[in-house]
Amino acid sequence: MSKLVPPHGGGSLNPLLVLIANRGEALRRAERLKKIPITSREVSDLFMLGMGAYTPLAGFMGYDEWRASVTDMKLANGVFWPIPITLSLARNIADSLAVGEEVALADAETGDVLGQLTVREKYTIDRDLECKHVFRTTDPTHPGVEKVMSQGEVNIGGPVIALSEGEYPAKYKDLYLRPEESRAEFERRGWKQVAAFQTRNPMHRSHEHLAKIAAEVTDGIFIHQVLGKLKEGDIPAEVRTRAIQAMIDNYFKPNIAIQAGYPIEMRYAGPREALIHALIRQNFGCSHLVVGRDHAGVGSYYAPLDAQRIFDELWEGALLCKPLKIDVTFYCYKCNGMATGKTCPHDPKHHLSVSGTRQREMLSKGEDVPAEFSRPEVVAILREYYRSLATA
Ligand SMILES: [Zn+2]
Repeated sequence: MSKLVPPHGGGSLNPLLVLIANRGEALRRAERLKKIPITSREVSDLFMLGMGAYTPLAGFMGYDEWRASVTDMKLANGVFWPIPITLSLARNIADSLAVGEEVALADAETGDVLGQLTVREKYTIDRDLECKHVFRTTDPTHPGVEKVMSQGEVNIGGPVIALSEGEYPAKYKDLYLRPEESRAEFERRGWKQVAAFQTRNPMHRSHEHLAKIAAEVTDGIFIHQVLGKLKEGDIPAEVRTRAIQAMIDNYFKPNIAIQAGYPIEMRYAGPREALIHALIRQNFGCSHLVVGRDHAGVGSYYAPLDAQRIFDELWEGALLCKPLKIDVTFYCYKCNGMATGKTCPHDPKHHLSVSGTRQREMLSKGEDVPAEFSRPEVVAILREYYRSLATA
């Protein structure tokens, strides 16, 4: 019997990816079906369904699931679910589909068939309602709102099977862990309580400090990075991975940190996204998720502690993966060490704070980066990347 936290929803993991031995035949069959185009966010959701990260979902949501997840953070059967997972199509495409029909899901950018869906429902949604609840704003310049507002007019719900994982397994190799695999790895190491640390950036000393606080109170830390589409200017995943690995190899005991990545695309839904990040990590076998300041936020849409507070509003048993709420971390020259906003009594003028813009500037111009800010092994890798950009 596993000592790890059970998958979400009370059952076992529900990966929807067809076994590799049967995939060729299933793909040939799907190629003969009507192909419908899906966006990069929907592709990412299909991969998440495929690997079992969205357990217990069996496909893209129908109307009742959509509505319950938006307004009550529940599936129709009462299981906790904080963000709707939907597929949208232009009306003319939706009109050409019959309920009961099987269709192939094709990446709108490449045309590759990635999955198959049985149409159970066609429905329209109140987008304002979705955005108001999920993003707490209907401001069309919010990147998550913008995607919902520009999606197809009709939602299609129904069970899916995934027929591909795209380029992820080949591109990221050992970094690409499915929930079954992360669970097996935790068991192999004898870990029971595991903290997930979500990142889409290289890790500087403040992130290292966060991860270490989490590792102190659990058996190990699962440094889990976003491999889905990023914002412009973000550091590519290959570079990030090497920088994070340099930090792990030089500053963490062996057997205390694992680095992995998953194919999610950020929605920037702040508090609601923190909740789904925890739900997903429960499926990966993590008992805790590090929730820092402004988790999954963007701009100034969310107050710094909103993503921590929302966990307190959940009902008993909604989510077994618990937040490790940690305040902002930094180097304090008065404390003479790493510190957090919760315990350091000193004026912020004694704290080292380096903006993202300033970091890029220091790295690309070859300026010295304070050792209190970033580890030299990490700096070397980032500097090499920025240098390659400058000469490209
Ligand atoms: Zn201090």
